[in-house]
Amino acid sequence: MSNTFLNTPIEYLKGVGPQKAEMLKKELQIFKYSDLLSFYPFRYVDRTKFYKIKDINSDLPFVQLRGKITHTKMLGTKRAQRFVATLTDDTGQLELIWFQGSKWMFEKIKPNTNMEYIVFGKPTIFNNNFNISHPEIDLVSLENTTLASSLQAIYNSTEKLKIRGLDTKGFAQLQKALIPLIKNNIQETLSNAIIERFQMISREEAILQIHFPKNPEILKHAEFRLKFEELFFIQLKLLKQKVIRQKTFKGFLFSKIGNYLNSFYNNILPFELTNAQKRVIKEIRMDMGSGKQMNRLLQGDVGSGKTLVALMNILICLDNGYQACLMAPTEILANQHYETISKLLKPLNINVGLLTGSKKVKERKLLHEQLKNGEMQILIGTHALLENEVQFKNIGIVVIDEQHRFGVAQRAIMWNKNTQSPHMLIMSATPIPRTLAMTLYGDLDVSTIDELPPGRKPIQTVHRFDNHRDRIFGFMKDQIAIGRQIYIVYPLIKESEKMDYKDLMDGYESISRAFPMPKYNLSIVHGQMKADAKNYEMQRFVKGETNILVATTVIEVGVDVPNASVMVIESAERFGLSQLHQLRGRVGRGAEQSYCILMSSYKLSSDGKLRMETMCRTNDGFEIAEVDLKLRGPGDMAGTMQSGVLDLKIADLAKDSQILYAARNMAIEILAEDPNIEKQENSNIAYQFSQSNSSQFNWSRIS
Ligand code: ADP
Ligand code: MG
Repeated sequence: MSNTFLNTPIEYLKGVGPQKAEMLKKELQIFKYSDLLSFYPFRYVDRTKFYKIKDINSDLPFVQLRGKITHTKMLGTKRAQRFVATLTDDTGQLELIWFQGSKWMFEKIKPNTNMEYIVFGKPTIFNNNFNISHPEIDLVSLENTTLASSLQAIYNSTEKLKIRGLDTKGFAQLQKALIPLIKNNIQETLSNAIIERFQMISREEAILQIHFPKNPEILKHAEFRLKFEELFFIQLKLLKQKVIRQKTFKGFLFSKIGNYLNSFYNNILPFELTNAQKRVIKEIRMDMGSGKQMNRLLQGDVGSGKTLVALMNILICLDNGYQACLMAPTEILANQHYETISKLLKPLNINVGLLTGSKKVKERKLLHEQLKNGEMQILIGTHALLENEVQFKNIGIVVIDEQHRFGVAQRAIMWNKNTQSPHMLIMSATPIPRTLAMTLYGDLDVSTIDELPPGRKPIQTVHRFDNHRDRIFGFMKDQIAIGRQIYIVYPLIKESEKMDYKDLMDGYESISRAFPMPKYNLSIVHGQMKADAKNYEMQRFVKGETNILVATTVIEVGVDVPNASVMVIESAERFGLSQLHQLRGRVGRGAEQSYCILMSSYKLSSDGKLRMETMCRTNDGFEIAEVDLKLRGPGDMAGTMQSGVLDLKIADLAKDSQILYAARNMAIEILAEDPNIEKQENSNIAYQFSQSNSSQFNWSRIS
C-alpha cells in the first residue's frame, strides 16, 4: 500500500513532464515520490521580516528587502556582460547584480516606480558599497505577501535545473503538488515507545511540516523527527552488524599476562604511562580476554603514545603464544617502527622482522619461512604484508597504523591471515569528532587517548606572510645554532603535481642559498625519489647529520625526530586542517620548545583564514577536527572510502550531536532487548530496517 505510493515514478506527478523527470533523475537522483519528499529544504526564509537598506551590515547572512527598481544597466564587454539593477527603498539604494542570465534579466526587469519587488539574497561589500549578486527577485503580489506560512522553504538546485525552471520556486511547486497526496500514505517507521519517549510528531506530519512549516516550533519538531530517524537507522545497522559479528566470530582468548609484558613494563619501559594510556591498555586487554574477536579503533593525537600502547598489547599477544604484526602505510614509517621496537625489545630476545617493498628476494624468502615456522614473533612492514606469501604460523593480533591510508579490502586481507580471525587494532592519528567516529566506525569499539605525555611544551604556532621570510630564516638559523633541526614542507596536491614539484625545487634552491654548505646541511625528500634515495636522505636527518629537511607531505605520517623543533609549512593555505595538524605533530616530540610557522600568501579565502586562526589558537586535535568538520563536512573529511555512510539527507554531524547520541542510545537499547528486531512492538522498525538495507553491500565485517 504505502510503498506503492512512495515508489511512484516521479513523472506521474503533476507538473513533471518527461523532460523534467529526466533532469531530476540525472541531476539529483530523484526517481520517485519518496526521493522528492526527502529532497529537503536547506534553509527557510522568514518572509514576514524585511530589512531596510540602511540597516544592512556585513554580519547578515541573508536579507529580504522590499523596494523599487529605479535604474538598470548592462555593463562589461559582450563576452562578460553583467546586468545591474538599482533597488531603492525609503532609506537608501543598493545594487543588484547578475553575471549569468544577464540578458534575460535585462528584458525582465525594467525601471518602474510603480512596481514593488521583494528581493532576497546575501549582501556583500564591493567598492565600499553593499550589493547583492544573483538575488531572488519577485514582484510583490498577493501570494507573496499573504503566505499561509511565514517560513518559506528554500531548495538547493543545480544550474541545469534552474534553467529548466526548477529553482527553489519550481521545487516548492512540485512539493505543493505532492504533499497533499501523502495523507495516509506514509507509514510510520518508529515504534510507539520511541515516539512517546521523544514526544515526536508522526512521520507524515514531519514530512508535511518540513516542506511547509506552519511555524518555527513545529518545524523544529519536524526536523528533530527526521534527523533522529535518519541517524537512528544508521546506528541500528552499525550496531546490529556488531552484534552479528560478535556472535559469528570467536576471538583468540588472551587470558594471561606473561613474562614479556611484565619484564617490559618493569625493566624496560623508560617512562610512566599516562592515565589515558593505562585506561586504553586496559580496555584493549579486556577486549582480547573476552573470547570475542576484537575490532577496535585506537584514536589519539600525534605523539599521544599510541605506538607504545600497541606494542604493549602485542606483548600480551606474544605472552599467549601468538605472533603479531604491525602494518604502516609508508616505508619510512615502517622502518621507524622497526627501529624503535626492535631496540626496545632487544633485552627480551624477541624476534622482530621488517618487511617492505625494498627487501631483497632472498631476505624475503627467509622471512616468509620464519613466519611460517613461528620463529619470527613480530612482523613490521608496509603493504608488503598483504601479499599472499606472507603466511603466519599463528597470528593473534594485527595492528594497523594510520588506518585511513588503507582501504577496507586491504584490512580484509589481514582478517584472513589466520584460520580464525586475529584481533584487529587499527590506529588513527587523525582525531575525528565523536559524532563522525560514531557514524563511520559505529560498529567498532573506540579507544581514545586524550592526553599527551607530561613535560611536553605546547607548540607555538604563528602565521606569517611571504614578506617575513628573511626574519624567519634568521629565526631558523638561531634554532640551528642551538642544535635544533628544522622541517620545511611544501604542498603536493595531485592535480598540479608538476607545478608543486617546481615550487619544491625552487624553494629548495633558495633555501640552499640562504643556508649554504658547509655550515648547513640539507636533506630533501619527495615522492618522485626512489625508495632507497628517500630513505638515505631521511636517515641523514634522523641521525642529525642534516639541519633542515625539505620535503613534501611524505613526512606527514608518523616520522619521529625529537630534536626537530621547527616546522615551516609553505603555502599553508593550500592544506586542510587535519593535514596541517598532522604536519605540526612532527615537532614538539622532545623536551624543547617547538614552533610551527605557517607561511601563506596574502590572498586567503575566509575558510583559509579560519584554518590559520584555528591552528594558531589550539594544539588540540579534537578541537581542530570539530572546526574541520564544520568547514568541510563529513564526506570530505573522511575521504571517499566510506562516504556512502555519510550521505546524510538532513542530519548534520557538526550540529546534531545530541540527536545522534539519543538515536544511538535508543538503538543500543532496542538491540539489547530485541537483538533480531522481531518483537511485535518493533515491527515498524523492522520493516523500515529491511527496506533500507536491502540494496546495500555490507562492508561492516571488515571495518
Ligand atoms: P603516536 O604513535 O601516538 O604518535 P608515539 O607512540 O610514537 O605516539 O609516542 C610519541 C613519543 O612519545 C615517542 O617518542 C614515545 O616514546 C613517547 N612516549 C609515549 N608514551 C609516553 C609517556 N607515557 N611518557 C613519556 N613519553 C612517552
Ligand atoms: Mg604513530
